[in-house]
Amino acid sequence: MKTLRDFNFKDKKALIRVDFNVPLDEHFNVTDDTRIAAAKPTITKILDDGGSCILMSHLGRPKGVQKEFSLEHIKAKVEEIIGVDTIFASDCIGEEAQTLADNLKPGQILLLENLRFYKEEEAGDKDFSEKLAKLGDVYVNDAFGTAHRAHASTAVIAQFFKDKKFFGHLLEQEIESIKKVMENGEKPVLAILGGAKVSSKITIIENILDKVDHLIIGGGMTFTFVKAQGGHIGDSICEDDKMELALQILDKARAKNVKVHLPVDVVAADAFSNEADTQIVDVAHIPDGWQGLDAGPQSIKNFDAVVQQCKTILWNGPLGVFEMENFAKGTIALGNSIAEATKNGAFSLVGGGDSVAAVKEFGFEDKVSYVSTGGGAMLESLEGKILPGIAAILE
Ligand code: AMP
Repeated sequence: MKTLRDFNFKDKKALIRVDFNVPLDEHFNVTDDTRIAAAKPTITKILDDGGSCILMSHLGRPKGVQKEFSLEHIKAKVEEIIGVDTIFASDCIGEEAQTLADNLKPGQILLLENLRFYKEEEAGDKDFSEKLAKLGDVYVNDAFGTAHRAHASTAVIAQFFKDKKFFGHLLEQEIESIKKVMENGEKPVLAILGGAKVSSKITIIENILDKVDHLIIGGGMTFTFVKAQGGHIGDSICEDDKMELALQILDKARAKNVKVHLPVDVVAADAFSNEADTQIVDVAHIPDGWQGLDAGPQSIKNFDAVVQQCKTILWNGPLGVFEMENFAKGTIALGNSIAEATKNGAFSLVGGGDSVAAVKEFGFEDKVSYVSTGGGAMLESLEGKILPGIAAILE
C-alpha cells in the first residue's frame, strides 16, 4: 500500500482529494468540522516535508455553479484548523487555478472551488480529470467518504500519476481498520448488525459470515428473522419477501459455525411514537397492535455477554429507534458494552450510517477504537467490494 510515509514531499505540489463536504448553517458557518480535522494529519505531513497542498473537494449537491455551495465558505475553517493561510481558486480548473497552482510555494495551501460545479466530476470525465491532474505533481486521495464513487477526482484522475499517487493518512486508517475486522481480526470476531431493513444489509451479512464467530442481529431486521421462524411479531416492521432469505442466512450461519444472536425480548409500543404506551414482551409473542421498537432488558444482558467475550467487534446499525428517547436504551446499552470491551483490549469499529450518528449523539466516539467517516463507502467495504477510489491508487 502506498502511504504518505513512503515519500518525502519536499518541493512537491500535492493535489489532495479531501472530503470537505461539511454541513453549513444558514449563514454559511461550518456546523461540524470533523471532516476538515480528519484531513489535517495528511496536510500537515506534506507541509512539514516542505511541500505544498492543493485541496479539492465537493460540497453538497449543486446543480451547476451555485454559490451557496462554494468552498469559499469553509476557507476560514480550514485556516483555523490547519493553522495556515489559504489561497482560494474560484474555479477548480482553468487559467486562474493553473496560475495559482504554478505559483504555489512550499508550505502554502491552495483550496479549489467545488468540484461538483462541473457535471464532469460525477461523470468521471477523463478530460476534466486531466485538467485537474495538471495542477499537481503528485496525487493523494484522503477522501474515504467518496472512495466508493468512480468520480473524476476520486478515481479517474489517478491514471495521470502512475507511481506518484498515495493513500492519505485518513484513507489508510479506514482501510486498516476494515482489514482488522475483515481479514486479521483477533478472535472471537463479532459483527453487530442493526438498523431498519434486512434488504439493505443482505450482502453484508452474506459476506461477513465467512469472517465472524458471532453475529448479533438487532433493530428492525429482527422481526423478519423472528416471523420467518414462526414467531408472532404483531405490527413490527417486517419484510415478508425476505423471510425465506432470513432462514437461508440462519442455515448458512449454522453451517459455518457462526453463532447468531437475536433479541429475546423487546420494548413494544402501541404506536410508532415516543409518547406511545410501552411494554416489555417476548420477541416471538408481540400482541397485535403493538410493535417492537427497541431491544428489551434480557436481550441487552445477552448481547453484553457476547460483546465481552469478543476481541474484535464491528457495529453497524442501531438496536432500536434511537432517534426517540424511549427507544434508545438498547442502542445506548450496546454502546456501553462495546466501550467496556474496548477498554479491556478489544478492537471495535463502528461504521456505516446511523450507528455513527448514535455513537456521536451518546458520547461513545472516544470510547471505541475507530469510528468510520464514510457511510456508503464503509457499507460497500463490508459487502466485500473493492472501492474504485482505493483500486485506482493500487493499479
Ligand atoms: P439503517 O439505516 O438500516 O442502519 O437503519 C437505521 C434506522 O433503523 C434508524 O432510523 C432506526 O430508527 C431504525 N430502526 C431501528 N430499529 C427499528 C425498529 N425496531 N423498528 C423500526 N425502525 C427501526
